[in-house]
Amino acid sequence: MLTEKATEDENKELRQRVSILHHKAERNEQLLKSFFAAELELLSCVTLAELMDYLLHRFKQGFALSSVTLMLLDPEDAVQELLDGSEQYDHFNGLTLLHHPATLHELFTDVKPYCGETNAFIKSYCFPQGEKVESCALLPLVRQNCLIGALCLGSADPQRYNHLLRYDYVAHLASVVAVCIENAISRETLQKLSSLDSLTRAFNRRAFNQQLLREIKRCSRTAESMACILLDIDHFKPVNDTHGHLSGDKILREMAQLLKDNLRATDCVARYGGEEFAILLPGCGESEAIRVTENLRSVIEHTCFTGHLGESIGITASLGVTLCEQHHTEAHDLKQLSESLIQSADQALYVGKRNGRNQVRFQALKIS
Ligand code: GH3
Ligand code: MG
Ligand code: MG
Repeated sequence: MLTEKATEDENKELRQRVSILHHKAERNEQLLKSFFAAELELLSCVTLAELMDYLLHRFKQGFALSSVTLMLLDPEDAVQELLDGSEQYDHFNGLTLLHHPATLHELFTDVKPYCGETNAFIKSYCFPQGEKVESCALLPLVRQNCLIGALCLGSADPQRYNHLLRYDYVAHLASVVAVCIENAISRETLQKLSSLDSLTRAFNRRAFNQQLLREIKRCSRTAESMACILLDIDHFKPVNDTHGHLSGDKILREMAQLLKDNLRATDCVARYGGEEFAILLPGCGESEAIRVTENLRSVIEHTCFTGHLGESIGITASLGVTLCEQHHTEAHDLKQLSESLIQSADQALYVGKRNGRNQVRFQALKIS
């Protein structure tokens, strides 16, 4: 009788153990599936902004975390510059760009993930937004043996992350995040560099031509006209001859900055050739285009440019303007239209040059 009871109890206990193991296995399988899905999401993000958006918003929701923050080492503001152009930038709450690695090294003395309770230091550095974080996983992001940042996962559940947790899933995810971030930064930096003029950091001619085609298409779609301006610095050769090429280069850089400072963020400023700049003003009619161009001419004339030894140099420029309107886009192909816009602005510019320089000339678009 006794033995039968003992066997029954043993069986019951075994069934319970099997059931617990079964639940554990199911939970692990579910977790693994979620991690695979997160990995796929990460790998499918094309831009850095998409990556940030996924980690700081959707990932947080998907894993029911109370806080997700990301620290990235950005000593030269390269990431800042890439994200500045992103429309979503304001929504990247939880992203901190660090100039110095000191905080990261304080968090990860041995570059190993940390899973466990939070303390005042962790709360203030990793979860400064004040959400309820009772346990956390702090994951170092490492590339080529260098700590490039940290992904901090915070949970309101004190049991969610503890030192007994096998953190190989999260550690693996951190490696994927690090690779994806590094790839996105390299890809976008390369893309950006290939569209910029190395001397002035304005767009280069190739990027301008691409933008011109995009804006013509937009003009055709939205019926908003677009102005195209060509600017050529007057008597620039004598400036180089008198003050030297270094001063000439500095003036070209100052000119690009002046143009950007005096135009809208949506306008496009490009260095078209040696001392020539091309500008697009989307959504701009004839009178506004002439007013804006005349303002640029006047600001240039009244600006004190400086040579490389700090000497003041006065500069003037001649500017030609033309306009692309929706009816132009109806009967002509894009390429022909873009070439004609440049030609018409160039012809207007040379009328200004012939008539004494330091002036703005408008010419209606002539399709060649
Ligand atoms: P104009 O009023 O007729 O335009 O006279 P200009 O002297 O500006 O025109 P020109 O075409 O004779 O000379 C252009 C000068 O621009 C010659 C060249 O040395 C200078 N230039 C072109 N690219 C650069 C550059 O990258 N750096 C410097 N410093 N000078 C440049
Ligand atoms: Mg020229
Ligand atoms: Mg010139």
